[in-house]
Amino acid sequence: MIAIEGAYVLTMGGPDIPAGTVLVGDDGAIAAVGAHGEVAIPPGATTVNAAGHALLPGLVNCHNHAAMALLRGYGADLPLQRWLEEAIFPAEARLRADDVYWGSLAAVAEMLRGGTTCFADMYFFEDEAARAVDEAGMRAVLSRGLVGLDPQAAAKLAEAEDFCRRFQGAAGGRVTTMMAPHAEYTCPEPYLLEIDAAARRLGRPLHIHLAETAAEVQDCRDRHGGRSPVRYLHDLGLLRPGTLTAHCVHVDADDIALLAASGAAISHNPASNCKLGSGIAPVARLQAAGARIGLGTDGPGSTDSLSMWETMRLAGWLAKAGAQDAAALPARTLLHWATRDGAAALGLGAVCGRIAPGLRADLCLVDLRAPHLQPCADVPAALVYAATAADVAKVWVDGTLVVDAGATTRIDAGRALAEAAVRMNRLIAP
Ligand SMILES: [Zn+2]
Repeated sequence: MIAIEGAYVLTMGGPDIPAGTVLVGDDGAIAAVGAHGEVAIPPGATTVNAAGHALLPGLVNCHNHAAMALLRGYGADLPLQRWLEEAIFPAEARLRADDVYWGSLAAVAEMLRGGTTCFADMYFFEDEAARAVDEAGMRAVLSRGLVGLDPQAAAKLAEAEDFCRRFQGAAGGRVTTMMAPHAEYTCPEPYLLEIDAAARRLGRPLHIHLAETAAEVQDCRDRHGGRSPVRYLHDLGLLRPGTLTAHCVHVDADDIALLAASGAAISHNPASNCKLGSGIAPVARLQAAGARIGLGTDGPGSTDSLSMWETMRLAGWLAKAGAQDAAALPARTLLHWATRDGAAALGLGAVCGRIAPGLRADLCLVDLRAPHLQPCADVPAALVYAATAADVAKVWVDGTLVVDAGATTRIDAGRALAEAAVRMNRLIAP
């Protein structure tokens, strides 16, 4: 039993507790939550003195290509299509399975140190991503990305299905899976439908890029009788509860209504959309329509940081500046998106994303004593508008301490970064 005592607790399911006690059982679940003095601490419990800290659910990153840590910053300042065709695809053609392991491990180290306890991934050699996640003690929803224009498309679909069968519930339940058609513009209709049929057979959701750029939307309209990518996927039956869509930047009123009514979730990835010049997703309008939203970074090739603190802040700033309204997207909403709503978007709403008895103990302890966080009149606002990944002191996943004093406990982050650097040089060599 672990007793975390004295922190400002953001439960994300109920009211905040200014000086709380959270008990974590030996089974890795949250055993009790309450005000200091209200929760009896069993004899023999390991006590963590968390005064001066905020305790919140581990952050959930809803869209990533983690192994692209190997290509961090590569092709900077190119727009999406040129970035993919001139920088990323040639480098990825050289990728080997063990590169994906080391790239994923480097990204996992960065995410854990920044308080992210769960992420959704779409990439290839995904067995290797699962190995990195398992070793680091993290939680993840993994999917093998599928591109239908590939001559090996059929074999890769079989591989993706096999991946879901082998890894659903792996790593003691910390790994779950999705089926991932990359996007409308990379998957012809018969392939999209085959992937969807496989997902339905497996009972696993879909993870797909959607309406990321204006050009993508126009090309889709040209190909599919004037229909937008959102309308097109809706007509194919792919937008439904459980489906995870990434981006949704270029959506019109019809698209917004369809997304909200479908029950599909949206990963809002503001840093990637900014850096690639894709645009600004109308998330306040999507939310007002009732759409389900979480936050993501996208891969470290395009963001380049995997900090969910920066992601929350940028999402808030863009919405406020765009609407010329300081009340657009308050800090509390951004924290919800980064925790409980993100977990729900990944099908994990009953597993993590809130601090409540019975949920898995995925927790992030933030040191509030740094100069940029003091004095602190409003803890949620300080976390969203001023906190950084470096302020994270401890992280637990499934009740296991995976970051302590700002360092990963289960993996050698220094070795992962050294391996990633060697591999990057091979991938981008002329
Ligand atoms: Zn992506």
